[in-house]
Amino acid sequence: MRSIGHFIGGKAVKGTSGRFADVYQPMTGDVQAQVALATKAELRAAVENAKAAQPAWAATNPQRRARILMKFLELVARDNDTMAELLAREHGKTIPDAKGDILRGVEVVEFVLGVPHLMKGEYTEGAGPGIDIYSMRQPLGVVAGITPFNFPAMIPMWQFAPAIAAGNAFILKPSERDPGVPMRLAELMLEAGLPAGILNVVNGDKEAVDAILDDPDISAVGFVGSSSIAQYIYERAAQTGKRAQCFGGAKNHMIVMPDADMDQAVDALVGSGYGAAGERCMAVSVAVPVGKTTGDRLMEKLIPRVESLKIGPSIDPSADFGPLVTKAALERVRNYVDIGVQEGATLAVDGRGFKMQGYENGFYLGGCLFDNVTKDMRIYKEEIFGPVLSVVRAHDFDEALRLPSEHEYGNGVAIFTRDGDSAREFAARVNVGMVGINVPIPVPVAYFSFGGWKRSGFGDLNQYGADSIRFYTKTKTVTARWPSGVKEGADFAMPTS
Ligand code: NAD
Repeated sequence: MRSIGHFIGGKAVKGTSGRFADVYQPMTGDVQAQVALATKAELRAAVENAKAAQPAWAATNPQRRARILMKFLELVARDNDTMAELLAREHGKTIPDAKGDILRGVEVVEFVLGVPHLMKGEYTEGAGPGIDIYSMRQPLGVVAGITPFNFPAMIPMWQFAPAIAAGNAFILKPSERDPGVPMRLAELMLEAGLPAGILNVVNGDKEAVDAILDDPDISAVGFVGSSSIAQYIYERAAQTGKRAQCFGGAKNHMIVMPDADMDQAVDALVGSGYGAAGERCMAVSVAVPVGKTTGDRLMEKLIPRVESLKIGPSIDPSADFGPLVTKAALERVRNYVDIGVQEGATLAVDGRGFKMQGYENGFYLGGCLFDNVTKDMRIYKEEIFGPVLSVVRAHDFDEALRLPSEHEYGNGVAIFTRDGDSAREFAARVNVGMVGINVPIPVPVAYFSFGGWKRSGFGDLNQYGADSIRFYTKTKTVTARWPSGVKEGADFAMPTS
């Protein structure tokens, strides 16, 4: 069986803890590999390597650093097919979807090729007599990222590309469920010319995460995963004075106004609700039709579409979605469907009986659709993270606006309408971080930035875009006077301008 260790100091190394986690192949249900779970000492070895390599990397001019990332992009393109298949086999998503996972990471690497420009500081001439002021951005040193299972290519790239481009050394702790692609990305960075020690991968669980949080030489931590862990990491990182940006779970609503193009809305709901088996933090999991007629029209079109979703093994390119990531995830999601029925929601499409012929042990669940879901139900309040869409009917625009605004999560939201006034008012007033207008999964492009509000994001800077360079650098401001001819004498009052 394949054994996955760590990638430290530019080398693949075996784990020494004697502790391992199973890596499944969700489409068959088999265990296909074992991944080592790191000890504190192994994390420390990665930090030592990173610390030793970082000063020379920071001193390498930013254009040269960007050139290595450019070479990395070529290598990712070269290995795209094999990497997408590895990703699909470990995660369960389909191969076309796995290619999207890689590409959305690549787009952020493309953005940070502009790091020489992004790192530029500011300059003011003549801020006082003979005084000029300038600011510069300097890397933090050694930084770390802890990533979730659901985007094993994209989210590691969102984190390590800006951090490394800015001159930091990076320690990645990927999800133990699908560590194959993150390891591959680190190998490709080395092949592209990145000095050993600048990108390390330490596989593991809570023990490795806690070692990161307590390590005095790690200056910043990026986290993406569920909200309770995001909050834990945010709080514990703060205790040791680290910078932290921690992104959590979601319950993304899509409002369907009476004037929406109903076919377009239904396409958007099935794609964004069931794609990747609903295991996306920007998946739409709540549809909110406004008015009874809209609700009835929506259900009439939605039910047959959900019933005819094509579920298949990850290697079937014609499948709409594949299995869930683990048996535990499958049981969790099925349990939520049972809860919804007990709570009194109408299960309009029941996917619990679905069996994938030839893959009977895989972690499959058919698409499920609930109607008449209400605000007090657990299936509305909690993140399900599976192919389950809940329809909550709203009487009017104000009620539809209040639902996502008052929900504890605030990652993404969408409104489908042909009316500019309601779209504009919705975008301005809704208490959610990313808004789509007739766009169901409003993941901003790489040169904007990604971040949810409320319990979907702890910390004040977003992922990627210019925010990422701010997060992974500190600003130094220099006030300089070259005093030829300027004689002021000693001044004991606070200097002002
Ligand atoms: P998770 O919280 O279980 O795991 C995320 C990471 O935390 C993994 O690396 C894991 O090893 C580590 N971890 C798990 N338990 C821990 C513990 N007790 N202490 C310390 N570390 C721990 O999340 P997941 O199941 O891998 O991913 C799915 C979740 O991620 C969903 O909630 C989804 O909404 C969220 N997500 C959010 C975003 C976003 O940008 N907001 C993006 C993708 C996924």
